[in-house]
Amino acid sequence: MKTDFLIIGSGIAGLSLGLRLSEFGTVIIITKKKKAESNTNYAQGGIASVLGKEDNFDLHIKDTLECGAGLCNVKAVETIVREGPESIYELLSLGVKFTRDENGNLKLGREGGHSKNRIVHAKDLTGKEIERVLLYKASKNPKIKILEYHFAIELLTVRNIKPEFRKVIKNKYTCFGAYTLNAKTGKVEKIVANKTIIATGGLGQVYLHTTNPAIATGDGFALGYRAGCELANMEFVQFHPTTLYQKEIEEDTQVFLISEAVRGAGAILKNKNGKEFMHKYDKRKSLAPRDIVARAIDSELKRTGDNFVYLDATVIGEERLKKEFPNIYQQCLNRGLDISKSMIPVVPAAHYSCGGLKVNIEGKTNIKNLYACGEVAMTGVHGANRLASNSLLEAVVFSKKIYESIRNEYKRNNNNKQNTEVKNIEKFIFNWSEKGTANAEEWILIKHNKLEIKEIMSDYVGIVRSTYRLKRALRRIKMMKDEIKEFYDRTKVSVDLLELRNLVTVAYIIIKSAMKRKESRGLHYMLDYPKRDDINFKKDTIIFKRIKLQ
Ligand SMILES: Cc1cc2nc3c(=O)[nH]c(=O)nc-3n(C[C@H](O)[C@H](O)[C@H](O)COP(=O)(O)OP(=O)(O)OC[C@H]3O[C@@H](n4cnc5c(N)ncnc54)[C@H](O)[C@@H]3O)c2cc1C
Repeated sequence: MKTDFLIIGSGIAGLSLGLRLSEFGTVIIITKKKKAESNTNYAQGGIASVLGKEDNFDLHIKDTLECGAGLCNVKAVETIVREGPESIYELLSLGVKFTRDENGNLKLGREGGHSKNRIVHAKDLTGKEIERVLLYKASKNPKIKILEYHFAIELLTVRNIKPEFRKVIKNKYTCFGAYTLNAKTGKVEKIVANKTIIATGGLGQVYLHTTNPAIATGDGFALGYRAGCELANMEFVQFHPTTLYQKEIEEDTQVFLISEAVRGAGAILKNKNGKEFMHKYDKRKSLAPRDIVARAIDSELKRTGDNFVYLDATVIGEERLKKEFPNIYQQCLNRGLDISKSMIPVVPAAHYSCGGLKVNIEGKTNIKNLYACGEVAMTGVHGANRLASNSLLEAVVFSKKIYESIRNEYKRNNNNKQNTEVKNIEKFIFNWSEKGTANAEEWILIKHNKLEIKEIMSDYVGIVRSTYRLKRALRRIKMMKDEIKEFYDRTKVSVDLLELRNLVTVAYIIIKSAMKRKESRGLHYMLDYPKRDDINFKKDTIIFKRIKLQ
C-alpha cells in the first residue's frame, strides 16, 4: 500500500490530524483493534481551556508551569493555552456536544491544580463524545481510509532498504512508512508513506493497576526508539490518585477511573475511619495536583496497611451526581455501590505518560518525515507532571501544528508532495520476511512475562522510587528483554508477542531514565533524594538517546 500520510492510531490525535491532512492528499489511519478503542474513548473529565469571564491565558499558563515543576517548555505551554479556545470552537463546529449551563453557555468544570473553572466537558463521557464525532467525520471523508486490526510492527527506515540502494538515501534517519500486521489475516503488509505520524497513545499497561485500556502497551514509544528517535522525560509517569479499588487484577485489566471532576465538585478524600487526611499534605487538600494526592494516598496506605482510602462523594448529593456524573454513578451502581449513599474505595493507578518521543513545536521527531502527536509525544507541555485535562488539549493543538508545518513545507516546495528521497521508494524496500521463524508453542511464556513486567514496574518503579528499587528492576527487566528478543527472533509475529516486546522495551526506557534523574521532581519521587532543596536541581530534560542505525 502507498499513501501520502500514514497515521498510526485512531484516538483524538490521529483522527483530528487525519481530518486536516486529507486536505492535501490520501490518508491511511491504522489502528490495532476496533477504531474507537483508545485512551481517548475513556477520557471523562474534559478539556482545559480559557473560556470563563474570570479566567485568562496567564493563569492557565501559570497553573501548567507550576504543575510541571520547572520542566515545561514555556513556548509549548503558551501554544496550547493560547490556541485552546479556538480548538474548542473547532470541535464544536465538527459537532461535539459539550455540556452547557442553563443559559446555553459552555459549562466549565474545575479540576486539581487549576486556579479557575476551565474544564469543557460532555458530562463525564467527554472522550467518547469527541471520538464519536471524529470517527463519524473520518468515515464520511473519501480521502481517509481507516484500517482496523492493523498493528504497526516497525517503522520503515534505511535498514529496510535493499543494500544496493541505501547509498542514495541522503539522510539515514528518514522514515518511509511502516510494516503492519493484519491481525485478521496474520499477514504482514508494507505501507509506504511520504509522511508517517505516530499517534499511538500511552503506556499504562506496563503497570499492573492502570486506567488505560488494553491497547495502551506503549507501542509507539518502542517503535520510535527502535527507529532511532529520541525520547524524553520518560521517568514521569502520572498515577491518577482515584481509581475504583478492585480486588482481582488480571493480565490486561483496566481499572475504573473516578474523575478528578468529582473532587472538583466537592468530594473529599478520607481514610478508612472516615477522617480527612489531605490537609496534612497540601493546603489545597483533596484538590492538590495529582502527584501530591497520589503520594499522600500511597503514604496513608503504607502507614495504615489498608488496601484503599475513601472518596466521599455523598456530599455532592444524589441529584447532582446523577446529572453531572451519570457514567461514574451508573458504573459504580453496576458494581453494587451507590455513591450518593456510600463512600467510594479508591487507589492510585498508572494513568498518563508525560514523556515520549521528543518533538519540536511543529510535532517533528528527529527522524525525517516522522512526526508524533498525542500522548506518545513529548512536546514539553507537561514537564514533570501533567495538569489535569491538558492532554486532550495538547493532542488537538499539536495535531494542528503538524498540519500547519506540512502545509508550509508543501507551499515552500510548490506543492510537490514527493518528500521521500527516492522516487518509487516502495520498490527498494524489503518485503517482510518470516525466514527462520515458527509459530509460538510456548504461549505461557508470553502470559507470564507480561505479568512479571507489570509486577516489577508496579513494585519498584511506581509512585515512590529509590536507587535500590530501580537497580533491582533494571536487572530483572534487562534479563527479560534479552529472553524476549531471543524468543521474538525465532517466532512468527502476533499481536501478543509484539505487545510483549514493546512493553519490555518501554519498561527498560522508563527505568533507565528514572535512574538518570537523581532528584525528586514532579511525578518522579525518590526516597534517596526526598527534598528538592538539598540537591542541585537537574533543570534539564533527560533525553533517552536514539539507537545508532547501520
Ligand atoms: C480513563 C481515562 C480518563 C482520562 N481523562 C482525561 C480527561 O478528562 N482529560 C484529558 O485531557 N485527558 C484525559 N485522559 C488522557 C487522554 O485521554 C489521553 O492522553 C488521550 O486521549 C490520548 O490520545 P491519543 O490520540 O494520543 O491516544 P489514544 O486515544 O490512546 O489512541 C491511540 C490509538 O493508537 C492505536 N495504536 C496503539 N498502538 C498501535 C499499534 N502498534 N498499531 C496500530 N495502532 C496502534 C490504538 O489502537 C488507538 O487507536 C484520560 C485517560 C484515561 C485512560
